[in-house]
Amino acid sequence: MMSERPTALQPEMPPTRWGDPAHATGLPDGVRDLVGLVFPVRDTPARADATIPAPRLSAEHVAGLRGVVGDDHVVTDDELRRRRTRGKSTPDLLRQRSGDLSDAPDVVVRPGSHDEVVAVLAYAQQHRIAVVPFGGGTAVTGGLVADPTGLDGVLSLDLGRMRRLLALDPVSSTAVLEPGLRGPEAEALLAEHGMMLGHFPQSFEYASIGGFAATRSSGQSSAGYGRFDAMVVGLRVATPAGEIRLGSAPANASGPDLRELFLGSEGAFGVITEVTVRVRPLPEVKEYEGWRWESFAAGADAMRALAQSDLLPTVIRLSDESETAINLADPESIGGAGSAGCLMIVGYEGTPAAVAAKRAAVTAALTELGGVPLGPEPGLSWARGRFAAPYLRDSLLDVGVLVETLETATFWSNRDNLYTRVKAALAESLGEGTMVLCHISHVYPTGCSLYFTVAAPAGDDPLARWLPAKAAACEAIVAAGAAITHHHAVGTDHRPYLTAEIGELGAEVLRAVKRTVDPAGILNPGVLIP
Ligand SMILES: Cc1cc2nc3c(=O)[nH]c(=O)nc-3n(C[C@H](O)[C@H](O)[C@H](O)COP(=O)(O)OP(=O)(O)OC[C@H]3O[C@@H](n4cnc5c(N)ncnc54)[C@H](O)[C@@H]3O)c2cc1C
Repeated sequence: MMSERPTALQPEMPPTRWGDPAHATGLPDGVRDLVGLVFPVRDTPARADATIPAPRLSAEHVAGLRGVVGDDHVVTDDELRRRRTRGKSTPDLLRQRSGDLSDAPDVVVRPGSHDEVVAVLAYAQQHRIAVVPFGGGTAVTGGLVADPTGLDGVLSLDLGRMRRLLALDPVSSTAVLEPGLRGPEAEALLAEHGMMLGHFPQSFEYASIGGFAATRSSGQSSAGYGRFDAMVVGLRVATPAGEIRLGSAPANASGPDLRELFLGSEGAFGVITEVTVRVRPLPEVKEYEGWRWESFAAGADAMRALAQSDLLPTVIRLSDESETAINLADPESIGGAGSAGCLMIVGYEGTPAAVAAKRAAVTAALTELGGVPLGPEPGLSWARGRFAAPYLRDSLLDVGVLVETLETATFWSNRDNLYTRVKAALAESLGEGTMVLCHISHVYPTGCSLYFTVAAPAGDDPLARWLPAKAAACEAIVAAGAAITHHHAVGTDHRPYLTAEIGELGAEVLRAVKRTVDPAGILNPGVLIP
């Protein structure tokens, strides 16, 4: 076993905003003027006078927990409790901005090891305290909002001290990572050995290894490197009923694959304390480029053709006409006469020979399918700005523009139906002045994910405007027979729609597992399980 030093801690995210405060740029005046042409802009600052409810846990329990993990790692400080309140969806941010801290945990507990997690769970089970595992805090579907009804309080189980690379097996290409490692930290530790994971969600800067596994996350290079769940070889999980270790071999026929039960379990079945992932050599070459398509349908058909011919590059993403027009300062620059068409970003990573071979084959296929190559600049521009959008969301919320995203997935034959229904549901609910943008960035031989970005005037009560719009979109997704989520997970927000997807018996199976591993129901109550 190797025990590598943890990398330096990143700065905490502000409670009302995304990301590293040093990276926040604000809206340049020119952009604010442009936004003002479309939306009624007005300064909408966060309230500074939020008051946090007094902790419900007794001093005796705080002392009891200190006995488990040490005095320094049980924190009742208001500021940290505020930062551990909810995640980073737009409703989460709007609630924080309005000073609503009603979901604040009573205490933040920071275990340093698997054994300490086990001990905290035992204490919480014995004393009926809800436990909310907290990785990076980037949840966007209410996965960090527990319902403590019938329990004596809520404990945020902050995994931020468990941030080591525990083992690396270069022969098998596997690594064992602790759950609290953030994306950049995990990649930096692996890079010291010339290896990488290759998981780059837009939340990469802050989201954690445990969170990726617990939500079945999918990153921007999913076409080449796969979803996070496909990278997981093994798991170690602490549950109130005991420990479970999974992943004895690269593949097996030892009954149903129980890894799948804990991947995506969102803290409701246990705390993931170790994740064994498959790793790969760092790419020697990275090349990104743009392609233009006449329409979203033409570009999507081309993605399907690549996926079905085993010809996917490392990155492939296609914006619809609206997203293309918004994202490009000059839509005409991608060659449309009067119409911007649709921008596709294609990226290749690997050895020079592998990149050259894949690129030649993909270029021939895309050309044959009617795509127009735009050269490297659109690709480089995407690569430069790939983690910037969440910062822009804050700046837009600051000037009274409501911005949120949602995602789903379906089979190729249902793609257009799903796209049309969700767009219509959002536009109808939010009314005049609403923009609904869409892109495809995760594709499979059988289908794809659709990712929608919505921008609308925030009005006086943006939350009251957004919640019915989100419900309308979810109902449209259910009516279209699509997945309620492709990679954002279920949390509390999608829980009402899960049974429609997995059936009543499927929901009962989940409840039965929950009863077995968490008989007292302390783990993330209200999250995931219908
Ligand atoms: C701006 C932005 C962009 C995003 N982009 C993407 C994207 O491109 N792709 C994508 O897939 N997602 C994306 N997300 C969603 C989010 O980042 C992912 O769901 C991510 O995997 C969550 O990781 P986390 O460490 O932040 O988890 P947290 O937010 O801390 O927790 C998420 C859920 O998992 C549980 N959990 C966390 N750690 C553990 C653990 N060790 N054991 C058991 N349960 C645990 C929590 O209790 C909670 O229910 C985005 C979110 C934001 C805010």
